[in-house]
Amino acid sequence: MVRTGIFFYYQEGQRLRDFPGALEGLLERENVFLYDAFYPLKPSSPFDLQPISAEILYQVHTHEMVEEVKRTGNYEGALFSAAATVRAAEKIWTEEIDNAFVFTGYGDHHAGTDFFGGGCYFNGAALAIHELRKTFGASRFVIIDTDAHHGDGSWEIFEPNQDALYVCFCPHPPWEKNNNVNIQVPVRATDEGYLGLVRRSFLPRVEAFQPEALFWNWGYDGTRGEYGDIGVSPDLHISLAKELKAIAEKISQGRLIVVLCGGRRRDLARALIPRIIGALAGE
Ligand SMILES: [Zn+2]
Ligand SMILES: [Zn+2]
Repeated sequence: MVRTGIFFYYQEGQRLRDFPGALEGLLERENVFLYDAFYPLKPSSPFDLQPISAEILYQVHTHEMVEEVKRTGNYEGALFSAAATVRAAEKIWTEEIDNAFVFTGYGDHHAGTDFFGGGCYFNGAALAIHELRKTFGASRFVIIDTDAHHGDGSWEIFEPNQDALYVCFCPHPPWEKNNNVNIQVPVRATDEGYLGLVRRSFLPRVEAFQPEALFWNWGYDGTRGEYGDIGVSPDLHISLAKELKAIAEKISQGRLIVVLCGGRRRDLARALIPRIIGALAGE
């Protein structure tokens, strides 16, 4: 049975206000595990997430950038947020779980080596990949990005890196450099069109690359009525989750880490996240 880890820290703001309560029905399942941190209120417990150390941080981001993040007042939250992705990766490698869903407060993909923006401070996937290399000697990774916007930070970090294939789906023109690929999504897409694009442009690349794990920067901001509206329906995200889970099971021993990125609406978060986790854990 597939074991799914949920990584959650308690954060301010409206979008995740219904969690973890909205996970009811999932948390009772014997193959679903919650790793959480009542940041900053919860006393220590064996399941607590710890923030990542500065040492790990400086492997990906510059000292100057980290100092700038400190001045935003969101430094601690960003450390917990990125830590969740790093811990998810570690627990998959130690075989405690098979796949994971990470509730980030501050997403990933606009955070580069020495810049950040768009609500992203640190690049959790890049930090996790660094840790997997260092601690477990893992070497090949694929990152798929289906947030509505271009992942400029991830692009910059992964571009010189031949061991990571970064595939970004966004309205930017098609572009390919080293193992970075931008797949252009029409500004008015359909679910079928989007899914077809993933099957045609992503699947063959992952099969050829043979990664040890798959990271999915998942944003729902492209859903109809959201701030990055590209015309797709909420159901697209569930189809993508099933598709990517199947790809991970075929190619990377089921290792799939879903990292929550863009999306503002609370109702969509509440409707979609439990279904995505349900897809990971097997319906
Ligand atoms: Zn976005
Ligand atoms: Zn892009």
